[in-house]
Amino acid sequence: MAKKTVRDLDLQGQKVLVRVDFNVPLKDGVITNDNRIVAALPTINYIIEQGGKAILFSHLGRVKTEEDKDGKSLAPVAERLSELLKKPVTFVPETRGKELENAIANMKDGDVLVVENTRFEDIDGKKESGNDSELGKYWASLGDVFVNDAFGTAHRAHASNVGIASNLPSAAGFLMEKEIKFIGGAVDEPKRPFVAILGGAKVSDKIGVIENLIKKADKILIGGGMTYTFYAAKGIGIGKSLVESDKIDLAKSLIEKAGDKLILPVDSVCAAEFSNDVPTEVHEGAVPEGFMGLDIGPATIDLFTKELDGAKTVVWNGPMGVFEMSNFANGTIGVCEAIANLENATTVIGGGDSAAAAIQLGFADKFTHISTGGGASLEYLEGKVLPGVASISDK
Ligand code: ADP
Ligand code: MG
Repeated sequence: MAKKTVRDLDLQGQKVLVRVDFNVPLKDGVITNDNRIVAALPTINYIIEQGGKAILFSHLGRVKTEEDKDGKSLAPVAERLSELLKKPVTFVPETRGKELENAIANMKDGDVLVVENTRFEDIDGKKESGNDSELGKYWASLGDVFVNDAFGTAHRAHASNVGIASNLPSAAGFLMEKEIKFIGGAVDEPKRPFVAILGGAKVSDKIGVIENLIKKADKILIGGGMTYTFYAAKGIGIGKSLVESDKIDLAKSLIEKAGDKLILPVDSVCAAEFSNDVPTEVHEGAVPEGFMGLDIGPATIDLFTKELDGAKTVVWNGPMGVFEMSNFANGTIGVCEAIANLENATTVIGGGDSAAAAIQLGFADKFTHISTGGGASLEYLEGKVLPGVASISDK
């Protein structure tokens, strides 16, 4: 079902509650990376330009006890936001009460206000992360409409996303809209051929993703550490590679279910230690005793490049090898290159480490979309309904 976006709302003179993702890394009270604040600017600027009053909510870090609040205030974020917007931003150091209500009442059209860390509400009884209905209702009472632009928390039902949305007309912000369009679009209405590439460390983290994509994709290329649980299922030697013994039967059934769709690596870059400082050897098929497979080999890169040729939709989750070590980064680089060379294809990366790998290896602008939500994008790829998305009003 298509969701309303911020463009569908009449914002002039409205108090617009916005759930953003300002969960930035902080060191000694200083923001070390402001990407997430920058990413929220298009939605905030749009609201200002339309004459709305932007009232921003976000969580920051984990807050369970009074002590956890230390260093988790959104005050430095509001300051940085003000620099980026080149206009004053009001910060309210509380999540409810008279000061907040008065500050909102005093806002003029086009003003911006940041509410204190929503997770400060978790200290007495998980009100935010438990989606306490009173809290959602209270926050909703502070505004006229709600815009959800925080995809990274969309897989959780919290008061600041689902709670507010259940009490107000709501819409997706521009970031959220992009995630729904590209991840949702790729999985649910792919242009074919649709090739999925799955890697990463463990099968157990990705069972849901593999099962869903077996149903949807035309081809599934497997790489990364999970390769060797599949190898074990086929009786191929794995040496001392990463393996999940309790998932071998599951791997067998996935191989059966997927049939010809599932394509396993044909060679591996192997080493005797999990280290970048030992010699490497490429082995076709079985990994010899005493060695572990830490990347897909050159023949597999060729094979995957061929399989990707002509693809119109590509969804990638999980690096092909231990890309953090240069000796085992070639597989991930090779797949990035193969994807970069595709013409007229929608190419999407979902998953925290896969996104980091593509960015770190210099391929950030070669993909149609790199998802910003690690856990949320995985659950989206599993075909789950994300409560944060579901709660946005339908078009
Ligand atoms: P994502 O965050 O994109 O979903 P994962 O968290 O599942 O990806 O996997 C990422 C990790 O998998 C990386 O840290 C990488 O080093 C590791 N990995 C990839 N290939 C192997 C391998 N052959 N053996 C061990 N670990 C691997
Ligand atoms: Mg990960």
